[in-house]
Amino acid sequence: MEITEIMIRYGELSTKGKNKKHFIKKLNKHLRSELLRYKDLKITFNRDRMHVKLNGEDAESVIEKMHDVFGIQSFSPVIRVEKSVDAAKDAVIDLMKSHYSPGMSFKINTKRADHSFEFDTHEINRMIGTAVEDAFDDIHVQMKDPTLTARIEVRDRGIYISIDTLQGLGGLPVGSSGKGMLMLSGGIDSPVAGYLALRRGMEIEAVHFHSPPYTSPQALKKAKDLTAKLARFAGEITFIEVPFTEIQEQIKKVIPEEYSMTITRRMMFRLTDEIRIKRHGLAIVNGESLGQVASQTLESMLAINAVTSTPVLRPLITTDKNDIIDIAKQIDTFELAIQPFEDCCTIFASSNPKTKPKLNKIQDFENMLNVSDLMTNALNGIKIEQINTETNENKKLEKTFADLL
Ligand code: ATP
Ligand code: MG
Repeated sequence: MEITEIMIRYGELSTKGKNKKHFIKKLNKHLRSELLRYKDLKITFNRDRMHVKLNGEDAESVIEKMHDVFGIQSFSPVIRVEKSVDAAKDAVIDLMKSHYSPGMSFKINTKRADHSFEFDTHEINRMIGTAVEDAFDDIHVQMKDPTLTARIEVRDRGIYISIDTLQGLGGLPVGSSGKGMLMLSGGIDSPVAGYLALRRGMEIEAVHFHSPPYTSPQALKKAKDLTAKLARFAGEITFIEVPFTEIQEQIKKVIPEEYSMTITRRMMFRLTDEIRIKRHGLAIVNGESLGQVASQTLESMLAINAVTSTPVLRPLITTDKNDIIDIAKQIDTFELAIQPFEDCCTIFASSNPKTKPKLNKIQDFENMLNVSDLMTNALNGIKIEQINTETNENKKLEKTFADLL
């Protein structure tokens, strides 16, 4: 028997009171765009559940996609049959075949939205329960903690049967929390920070600084490939490439080496914030983790962060490197991130960066740079691109979606 629909239970958003509608709409919109290639799907929703009717589309690949969507707490493949207890019996037995092992326990849990149906829930539980016991050699009914629960829902349009509950990613639907600019290097940390921001419902745009010819085209490609990995969870992501060569050369030329890192990072923050304003973002997100490197001491962060009052979100601030690596592996960014193409920071890195930079010194040094001209030049050289998941098929389809908007 074929799976006819997927039933989705909302995650944390179901506790959001008045905002609930907003969250559900975002989830609906995101899910639709992610499933666009399945032309015959029909998605409906109410306050408690979302239903994806397959209409003959491939259940397995739709289910696979569900695993990448934030805001889904859990979901169940469902078979819809005509409104007859015999049809429901057959479907339950069919579904249970692949889960059966001798000695196992089960229960039937029926709900009836259609109260005009000829049997009540107790009768249905009993009739289907007996049929299951007859169909399998060694199985018994158990009310408390059974191995398997078959859920039966009698609704107006048919009887809906499910036995699996699959875990979703949780979190909040992408876009429900507003937009942030992700400072994306080619390293391990920033893609993970981006993933965690997406998980809390942010929409992200990736801002990447590169310094050709000191940094290679492969380093740029790596940043784009990492963005494509995040697009699996976000849908299309805007990738903003910022030319950083002139700034790094100037810093190298006029700034004492021990302050070059601090001032480089202040320039990055300033530029990211300018871009944020233009792109209507509400926050900056980066991959900093307390104490990891010289720029990530509290003293450094205070000095670097002083260029903006915009919220700078650091999802990894208290996360150990090993745990960051675990997440990077889960989201498939780790292998890419450890490729040896160096980004702009590594190449201009000073051998003795200040871990406790002084703000008055920073100001004196920055007076030796023409900060506003350098920024204007960098901003004028920005390139923007839309990035999708790796497959071409996806690229084409995302375009179709954009056309629809
Ligand atoms: P990552 O693993 O993300 O590269 P990191 O541990 O190497 O981080 P830094 O190089 O100090 O640490 O960078 C800290 C954060 O600054 C990064 O996580 C990222 O958010 C941002 N950043 C660094 N380099 C770049 C870059 N070339 N383009 C955009 N953002 C950058
Ligand atoms: Mg790095």
